[in-house]
Amino acid sequence: MSSSQSQKPQAPRYESNKYCVCTSCINNDGGQCATLVELEKHLKTVGILTANDAQLTQILLPGPPTHDLTPCHTTLLAFFSGVMDRELRDNMSKGRSMSRIQFFNQKICADDMASLLTWCRTGRIHIDYDDSDFQDDRCRFERLWNLAAMLEMPEFANFCMRLILAKYSWNVLGASETPALDFQSAPYGPTGPLFVITNQLDVVRHSRLSAFIERLLTSRDPLQEDLVHAVSNGKREAYQNAWHDRLASNIQLNYRVAESRTVDESKVDNDPTNPELAGLFLVSVPDRDPDQFRLELSRQGYQTAKNTVAKTKYTQRTLCVPSRDKQVFYKAFEYDPADHRELGAAPPR
Ligand SMILES: [Zn+2]
Repeated sequence: MSSSQSQKPQAPRYESNKYCVCTSCINNDGGQCATLVELEKHLKTVGILTANDAQLTQILLPGPPTHDLTPCHTTLLAFFSGVMDRELRDNMSKGRSMSRIQFFNQKICADDMASLLTWCRTGRIHIDYDDSDFQDDRCRFERLWNLAAMLEMPEFANFCMRLILAKYSWNVLGASETPALDFQSAPYGPTGPLFVITNQLDVVRHSRLSAFIERLLTSRDPLQEDLVHAVSNGKREAYQNAWHDRLASNIQLNYRVAESRTVDESKVDNDPTNPELAGLFLVSVPDRDPDQFRLELSRQGYQTAKNTVAKTKYTQRTLCVPSRDKQVFYKAFEYDPADHRELGAAPPR
């Protein structure tokens, strides 16, 4: 009891990531917030890549436009996304610009793409802490992680994973008015896990996100008796029904959680929200220097002046067939069982 009490921070310190679960914020030890460090690094990179650069890329999604997707600097897209990088270089080799990219993947929704573009520009996404992403049972962060993996965006995947870790660590569904940091016992809704289980990525054999959800479901029962009491009276019935209905109707689920309400105590230490295990679910980020990146592009003929419009087509089929060089990227998003560390072992950073 006392050890879990001492883990609780006095107050969330970083206003743009209210529910930060980085080690410094959790321990409230005066160290630098890892999320804030990432943000500063991101903004510096954006500054370098967009200086004196007027070339923008417009993203187009299937169907009629439902969302105003503000064009984004081409260099930002190419720097942060392996897929966009190859697209840009391929266009350049053919003497074309990358002013438009058409996606044909029906699974990409405009809101998610808008969040991705916002993140590219600002290093953040808009999160409504009060009434949406944390309190309601949604799968937005999980969807964005999948999008990051699809477009080979390691930094964005980690940004999303930190939000996912926070979502399953903070007890915002609980009866208390004030959300509490509640590792290993915060109740969670079925939408996120079900989304991940039913939307396994074609591009990644066993993703870090699916490994996270698998471990979550096998180490922490959402309906464990003492957790049910943590859910407020108003939400309890809907919460329980949602789990029963949705898990029971999904034949893909082999998880013990669908059959039993008791936690296997020996597996509790596997809880993926344990801060010591969090590193297992973060993607390794290749060391890329934005100055070098720009230099290399200009050597290859990258022009920053206004270019003629060239429509580039992009298909889901292309995304799903990894070539040899793509596999390096995909590997980063995969969960390797060899990475499995027992509690107490140093997680990879
Ligand atoms: Zn932090």
